[in-house]
Amino acid sequence: MTKLDGYLKQFVVQFSGLKVGFHEFEFEIVDLFFEQYVIEDVDGGNIHVNFTLEKRENMMELSFQMAGTFKTKCDRCLDPMVLDIETNDQLMIKFGDVTSSENEELLVLGPEAYKIDIAPIVYEFITLQFPLRKVHDEDDCDPEVIDQLQQTFETPEEDNDTANMWDELKKLK
Ligand SMILES: [Zn+2]
Repeated sequence: MTKLDGYLKQFVVQFSGLKVGFHEFEFEIVDLFFEQYVIEDVDGGNIHVNFTLEKRENMMELSFQMAGTFKTKCDRCLDPMVLDIETNDQLMIKFGDVTSSENEELLVLGPEAYKIDIAPIVYEFITLQFPLRKVHDEDDCDPEVIDQLQQTFETPEEDNDTANMWDELKKLK
């Protein structure tokens, strides 16, 4: 078994043996988690997951509370950046004739199902939180890249502005 397989095993929840009621689990999402998915935008992350499974007679309600950070790249300067993530999601599971995914909030499991891998579900909820545009705060971008961008797209008046700024600062003394 690879390190990744070993790590992912914890996300497989065997619900058949669980009693009716609430069951709580905790998971730590680490960089390894993201190795199974090929996604250009995510370079890893650390996310704490509080997972609650409520088992009822003929259905289950899964609830995921996640908080942490994930690593990505800035859309503007391409430098690495870390973004916060916090999300609270629910998924209903019903039992039917065949396993099927009705929509984002309802999953139907066939009669043979006795366990569920929540890793892809967690992954899905995480990606739903990704902002469309991921950029550093203006001052945190790689200055070299920004300089190059500005030289490409703008007339180089930057030096004058900087000189003026220093003049202003000197006056403040
Ligand atoms: Zn940036």
